[in-house]
Amino acid sequence: MSTPDVLVRCQDAARTFGQGPAAVVAVHGATCEVHAGDRIAITGPSGSGKSTLLHLMAALERPTTGSVSRPSLADGPGQIGVVFQGPSLVPALDVAENAALPLVLAGVPEDRARRRAMEALALVAAADLATKLPEELSGGQAQRVAVARVIALAPRLVLADEPTGQLDRATGRHIVDVLLSAADTIGAALVVTTHDPTVAERLGVRWAMHEGRLQTASEPLRRSPATVSRGDTS
Ligand code: ADP
Ligand code: MG
Repeated sequence: MSTPDVLVRCQDAARTFGQGPAAVVAVHGATCEVHAGDRIAITGPSGSGKSTLLHLMAALERPTTGSVSRPSLADGPGQIGVVFQGPSLVPALDVAENAALPLVLAGVPEDRARRRAMEALALVAAADLATKLPEELSGGQAQRVAVARVIALAPRLVLADEPTGQLDRATGRHIVDVLLSAADTIGAALVVTTHDPTVAERLGVRWAMHEGRLQTASEPLRRSPATVSRGDTS
């Protein structure tokens, strides 16, 4: 069997915010690969660096040191879709316009963009919301629309940053199922950050972040002496 394409490769990728004594190392040298077809959960407490790592993968952040490459992704928009944690819909646009927006921005003609947006909305069971404004939606509905907006682009990689963070348990579980089935339908890899173990359990592979350090199955956590001496029990 051939090895699936490497979509993202992080090699000792680190991200520091600020300078001097105030500097915060959000991600210490992280080494990992995301392959086509992967279903990965990145767990870890608030502040452990999950969002920063996801932003590095998405090219929304550049590594301070080390590298992040996307060996088998084409340049240009549409290869990576990001579902953000908080409300991310444009308040003045209705649901269908929101879902079509990335396509329109990528240069897809408006009627085609709308058709693809409606298909994506149907996939997340939100077609009936098409003419609603974001302010009329529940948290779960808004997050389904945010998933549809990403799915409409048919990216090869979907990165979802705590997509259930602001939802109750049952709604959160439903959103993860929606993400998984949508990723199956468009044949995308899926990486989800979460601090909820029940969400993480639904994905095949689990990585952990702890104080900016990434632990994957192939890259055991390299604890600094300071971390160990604080008697961490996790
Ligand atoms: P998580 O998503 O696990 O909650 P983050 O990646 O958001 O963690 O944050 C990791 C650390 O980096 C935190 O200490 C946070 O305060 C810091 N951090 C994240 N983004 C920034 C930023 N833009 N500027 C300064 N500090 C940041
Ligand atoms: Mg975060």
